[in-house]
Amino acid sequence: MSSKRLFGTDGVRGVVNVDLTPEVVLRLALAIGTYFRPGSRLVVGSDVRAGNSFLTKIVIGGLISTGVKVVNAGLAPTPALQFYVKSRGFDGGIVVTASHNPPEYSGIKVVMPDGVEAPRKVEEELEEIYYESRFRRVSWREVSGDATRVYDVIDHYLNNIVELVDKERIRKSGLKVVVDPANNVGALATPKLLRTLGVRVVVINGDLSYTPSRSPEPAPENIGDLISVVKSVGADLGVAHDGDADRAIFVSDGGLYIPGDVSALLLCKHIVENRREVTPPRVVTAVSSSTLVSKALSAYGIEVVWTKVGSIIISRTMMELGAIAGFEENGGFIYPKHQYVRDGAMSLALMVELLSYEKTSLSSLIETLPKRYIVKKRVYVGRELLPRVYEEIRNRFSEVEFIDVDGLKGISSRYWFLVRPSGTEPLVRVFVEADSQQLVNEVLKELLDIFMEVYGSEVRVA
Ligand code: MG
Repeated sequence: MSSKRLFGTDGVRGVVNVDLTPEVVLRLALAIGTYFRPGSRLVVGSDVRAGNSFLTKIVIGGLISTGVKVVNAGLAPTPALQFYVKSRGFDGGIVVTASHNPPEYSGIKVVMPDGVEAPRKVEEELEEIYYESRFRRVSWREVSGDATRVYDVIDHYLNNIVELVDKERIRKSGLKVVVDPANNVGALATPKLLRTLGVRVVVINGDLSYTPSRSPEPAPENIGDLISVVKSVGADLGVAHDGDADRAIFVSDGGLYIPGDVSALLLCKHIVENRREVTPPRVVTAVSSSTLVSKALSAYGIEVVWTKVGSIIISRTMMELGAIAGFEENGGFIYPKHQYVRDGAMSLALMVELLSYEKTSLSSLIETLPKRYIVKKRVYVGRELLPRVYEEIRNRFSEVEFIDVDGLKGISSRYWFLVRPSGTEPLVRVFVEADSQQLVNEVLKELLDIFMEVYGSEVRVA
């Protein structure tokens, strides 16, 4: 196995023409083409980013030279492309996207025949082929013609979403929704979806541009315009996508930002209470998500399975164990009746369906949820002594249930915490959520005291 690593947590990412040069992308395309059997059919699509026009051509050229057949999907949200691969029986797909990363980035994501992103094992094989330059060179007779251009990827995706929700009920509810696709591919799908469902739509940042008006990351600090417009037009809901529209972050009527695990909780309850889908009785999410969901769903006999952080692990766990839904706390929601991947338009369709069932507004629904207090800290220490920290935490928090698939998560009835080393920086993240500020402070103090004792008093916390 190669010791060098090319793929990050979700594909290969880099700044265009700095890390992600034409040469790197060509070699990557050659490696991907080599990995798939000769004659395989692969779909290639992209989001809107500087460089994607030439990077996509390089990907297509590289793939064709290895003897695979390429279908060019053009611009499409990542979940639309993933759905196309799965439902049309392709051998795989490649998305040229950097998702929520800043505009100067692009990336390459590999999709398997089931529509889910390639697992680490496949990435390792691709890295091996890449670093050893073991590219398949086929004879001129086996090089297929040009890529076939298809134009039905987005409509095919949206049609299936519309089939899955109660269109008449949504139409009758007369909702108004503001959409902010960050000047990217969500603009090609989401407004159309809403209009098909009879929802009145206001779009901001809707023209396609590689210099977007807001950051591709739908974080609270980046969606101020959406919040203002939701308020000023009196909308029932606002939705912000990331660059490739697999994530949906919601804003309530009145302009309240809704964290991804809170919207996931509402969607899960909707799936159970209104859509009456209770089997397999399981919801899958990463340890970094709130325990709000497990508390709310336990009343229905639905269990939460906690995984390591990463959407691909959530997808694969859902496929293995079966689940009614899965999610990440950043707005990535997975509804397996559609597909086992994060899906911005699908989660929006479920959200407007939820509102069509409720007699009340989204902001009043949020008010009925338990109040919670949160603190996030960074502890600047290495990993060496973490096992001792974990041991001491287990000793002192005797009333707590522990989950140790990724760092250490502790869950009690009134609070939960997560102590987890960062994957990218030399620090440990400490996260506490509780039903009062005082309890947050107490739990945090106890955890930080343990770090001080194990690492010495000079531990830096920020
Ligand atoms: Mg994304």
